Amino acid sequence: MKKLRGISASPGIGIGKAKKLDSEFFIFKKEEKRIKSKNVENEIKKFYESVKKTEDEILKIKLNIEKIAGKEYSEIFSFYISLLKDKKLIERVVNLIKKEKVSAGTAIKKFIENLSNQLLEKDNFLRDKRKEIFDIFEKVFFNLSGKTEKLNEIKNGIIVAKDLSPTQTVSIDKRYIKGFVTCVGTSTSHTAIIAKSLEIPAVVGVADAMEEIKENDTILIDGYDGIVIVNPTSVEIEKIKIKEEEIKQTKKKIYILKNKETITLDKKRIKLYANIEFPEEVESVIKYGAEGIGLFRTEYLYLKRNDLPSEEEQFLSYKKITEKMEGKPIIIRTIDVGGDKFISAFQGPKELHSFLGLRGIRFSLEKKDIFLTQIKAILKASYFGDLKIMFPMITTKEEVIEAKKIVEIAKNELNKKNVRFKENIEIGIMIETPSAVLVSDDIAKEVDFFSIGSNDLIQYTLAIDRVSEKLSYLYQPCHPSILKLIKLTIENAKKNNIKVSICGEMASNPEIACLMIGLGLEELSMAPLAIPYVKEKIIKNYYYKMKEIAEKIINFDSHESIINFLKKNLN
Ligand code: PEP
Ligand code: MG
Repeated sequence: MKKLRGISASPGIGIGKAKKLDSEFFIFKKEEKRIKSKNVENEIKKFYESVKKTEDEILKIKLNIEKIAGKEYSEIFSFYISLLKDKKLIERVVNLIKKEKVSAGTAIKKFIENLSNQLLEKDNFLRDKRKEIFDIFEKVFFNLSGKTEKLNEIKNGIIVAKDLSPTQTVSIDKRYIKGFVTCVGTSTSHTAIIAKSLEIPAVVGVADAMEEIKENDTILIDGYDGIVIVNPTSVEIEKIKIKEEEIKQTKKKIYILKNKETITLDKKRIKLYANIEFPEEVESVIKYGAEGIGLFRTEYLYLKRNDLPSEEEQFLSYKKITEKMEGKPIIIRTIDVGGDKFISAFQGPKELHSFLGLRGIRFSLEKKDIFLTQIKAILKASYFGDLKIMFPMITTKEEVIEAKKIVEIAKNELNKKNVRFKENIEIGIMIETPSAVLVSDDIAKEVDFFSIGSNDLIQYTLAIDRVSEKLSYLYQPCHPSILKLIKLTIENAKKNNIKVSICGEMASNPEIACLMIGLGLEELSMAPLAIPYVKEKIIKNYYYKMKEIAEKIINFDSHESIINFLKKNLN
């Protein structure tokens, strides 16, 4: 038995036999099929027919993914279609058939082989898009030869591959394939998102999967936690069955708790909101019973593209969410690039410590045109529901004043054009730097609400890079310094009569959520999935007890003692 760790890409449990896949397998077969001159036209015809067939298939897939995952995720398929319509690419294959007198299949192979060497040609497009070109022409090749793709050849199989392309992922037939493992990828890669939409259990980023897994090994995939077990023992299989059962129970819990008010035993009403990163997550926000969206990260609009999203594109995206939320509040956080998120449309100088660099509001104030476009889009969408604006990574009051000036400019521009928007839209900030906490009394006078971003507050207070695995032991949400900063933020918000909530990950922990309530928060925002668990904890406990616990704990001297105390003293 061997346990491999990766990244959870799509939840679910899958057990089956390993089917290792080398997605580049066909071009390495050296066979070459020569043809007679009189057959050239016929081969070209066959090639065109196969291109057309592939185009039709991809179009179908595109529409399907658009329906289940949204337009953003189907765009890759539009790109594939544009490749099939690219005359220059098609002519390359046709010319090979003509000049070298080879079959259409051989011509495609040669074309792909040339591409591999053609880091060769100084053609940037071919170089950058090699993977996608390869992927789609592989499909043309399969359609031409009438061969089935290797993916679905095995019953109860688990695919193990270096990487899977989006087209390969959508080709997986759930009746035969029980899940997949890849060496590369992230939870937000297209492959992962498609797997989630199609409900295929998947773990990506298992770097040594191809070395550690042998063909026909029994593989157990735990797509919930990103774990792959090679040749599991009966005990492991039993454990996973228990886990599946627990998950079923959770689903029931979600159903029961969804419409229940979040209220403590002594009747203190608490509001639970959801954090989201993509518009499609609105479905989960509703499913898990959130009362609104406490943090809508907008970076998705800017990442994985070479240009910037237009005002109209952003407006339509925000409007769609607003309408789906049917009047429930939504806090839209303005672009928070920098740190570990970069946009290709803006190639700034490389920074040694990017988390301490041009990030969040600093970027927006440097690139005011990008910022203004986003603010106008949010304002326009605000007409359709209860939207609020939030600025990330604030460290000084001046930044807030500067950012508000941009909001004023945006309002003036829209007024001039007679565009309708919510004039008194609320403006808030993330409290996620120690500096913001320490001047929060002052800044509170400039804004309508605070939202505590504990993910960054922990990183900046304890001086640890939040993506550093080596330092994860120091990532302590209940470190006394963090609790003291949170307490001070809440006090200053209340003193100035503005709203305050938390949207960092720590609010997803049911016990810590109760501690936050004890410290004075009445609104918490978290991953949608965490809502039923946090709600269940809150409704089983007394508010007065949470306050007592918070009062005691604030004087404790370590994260560990605080966590233990919480566990012991809450129901
Ligand atoms: C935070 O910093 O706590 C937060 C919610 O924002 P992000 O994780 O997007 O930086
Ligand atoms: Mg943050």
